[in-house]
Amino acid sequence: MLGKRNEIDQLADQQWDLLVIGGGITGAGVMLEAARRGLKVLLVEQRDYAWGTSSRSSKMVHGGLRYIAQGDVKLTRHSLLERERLLKELPGLVERATYLFPLRKGVFPGRWPMKAVLWLYDFLAGIRDHRYLSLQQVKERAPALNTDGLTGAMCYTDALTDDCRLVMRTLLEATRHGGVAENYLQVTSVAREEQGFSVSLHDLVSDQKRTVQAKQVVNATGAWADRFSGSEARVRPLRGSHLFVDPERLPVSDCLTVMHPEDGRPVFVFPWEGVTCVGTTDLDHPQDMDIEASASNQEVEYLLTLINSQFPGRAISREDVFATIAGVRPVIASGKGGDPSKERRDHAVWGDNGVVTVSGGKLTTFRLIALDALLATGLISEGEHRKGQKTKAAMYSKLEAAPPAVDEFLHANQDDDDFFDWLLEQEAVQHLDDLMLRRTRLGLTRPQAGVAVLERRREQIKAALGWDDERWEKELSRYLDIHQQFYGVPVAPVVDNRKAG
Ligand SMILES: Cc1cc2nc3c(=O)[nH]c(=O)nc-3n(C[C@H](O)[C@H](O)[C@H](O)COP(=O)(O)OP(=O)(O)OC[C@H]3O[C@@H](n4cnc5c(N)ncnc54)[C@H](O)[C@@H]3O)c2cc1C
Repeated sequence: MLGKRNEIDQLADQQWDLLVIGGGITGAGVMLEAARRGLKVLLVEQRDYAWGTSSRSSKMVHGGLRYIAQGDVKLTRHSLLERERLLKELPGLVERATYLFPLRKGVFPGRWPMKAVLWLYDFLAGIRDHRYLSLQQVKERAPALNTDGLTGAMCYTDALTDDCRLVMRTLLEATRHGGVAENYLQVTSVAREEQGFSVSLHDLVSDQKRTVQAKQVVNATGAWADRFSGSEARVRPLRGSHLFVDPERLPVSDCLTVMHPEDGRPVFVFPWEGVTCVGTTDLDHPQDMDIEASASNQEVEYLLTLINSQFPGRAISREDVFATIAGVRPVIASGKGGDPSKERRDHAVWGDNGVVTVSGGKLTTFRLIALDALLATGLISEGEHRKGQKTKAAMYSKLEAAPPAVDEFLHANQDDDDFFDWLLEQEAVQHLDDLMLRRTRLGLTRPQAGVAVLERRREQIKAALGWDDERWEKELSRYLDIHQQFYGVPVAPVVDNRKAG
């Protein structure tokens, strides 16, 4: 159960086998794999579940064509096998999607190199799902696409998900096995003791502070990992931003990989939960990690330039963008600096002060990452780790009392009465932003931050969460402020074209 908040005293009274810091997909995966094995596990998240990078990805459960092109066959193969597993286990939350890679005269890669890469990609996944589309077929499927030099497209399949809902589904599953998770519970320090660790917690809901004891600690704080790793900084924080565009202004039916006209970087334009999603950027993020990441004006400009070069008839502007989102990738630095897009994307597990730190990697491979972290704690043996990597056993079970939207979120009406009842009762909503930006995506996929939904559901939410009018007003203003500052569209700087003198 995630719905009922535990008193911090109750948590402090117990001896935990494992404490997991961080409620993103990595922490959720570690919690599930540990709880399934009968370990007594507590996960704590400083803000909301999936508030970090795991609500801000490109939503792809994929092998990553880019990685195979970089020669990283092992990462691609593991990712593809995990993709196939998730497609089978969570239909409706992880769904196969069609991707188009438009081919243009004189632009690398052409048809035959792409065909070779896709053959290998499908082979590693154990499927055969790619083909060539003629120019006419591409025009029919993507009528607004720029046809300059277009000769056809390679068509293949990968998968899409809702990253937040994947985290929630994994946490819900872990609690079924007896795991305990709390959001808005921040770790302030970790001290090594003879018998394990003493971890100081600050409950940001009740403003209480306590210390809990755990035999092992996994630091799954992603881009924040260096704070508890005890080693020199290893994470190179790289920011990636996306735009959520009005689908009536920019309709697409497939996931398109298009090249940016300025630097030739591939960017995705794809249909997601009723809107058109465009991204990502990839740049260093030297900003304070205590401040929520947001898309800069230059990133918005960069993505709009891409859209208007690829869909020239659409004249898409900032007014057509419902929302933006920015995430910080916990990339394990090569130490060489250089082009962010060339840094490797696999995960690392290390632990020089006894705390096992796990960072980097992908959403797609969270199960394998979790097993590696558990092996490093010594809570599972090498044999269990090997068995876990290869097992065909199901990870998820049916959630009996849950409305269909929990498991079929990608096709569900997010503004459904039963679903809202469930979210408010079962999914630890503390603030309106939890509900609008992460439990549902109504704040990203509806115009004006989805306030129409909030107005209509005001009494239901107040009653379920025990809020009076004053609390409601405070929450509404908090949500709208957060939306405007971190998920809004930055105002374009005024360019003064008047000539001096
Ligand atoms: C732009 C972008 C696009 C991406 N696209 C894809 C994709 O399409 N497919 C894919 O597979 N992967 C993708 N990724 C990678 C993927 O999103 C990440 O690898 C993954 O989400 C990392 O999850 P995590 O749990 O390690 O980190 P996070 O999700 O960041 O979780 C760490 C959590 O730790 C919490 N925390 C920090 N400090 C404390 C503390 N003191 N106490 C308690 N909690 C704390 C944070 O609040 C945070 O919620 C993308 C990443 C980015 C940035």
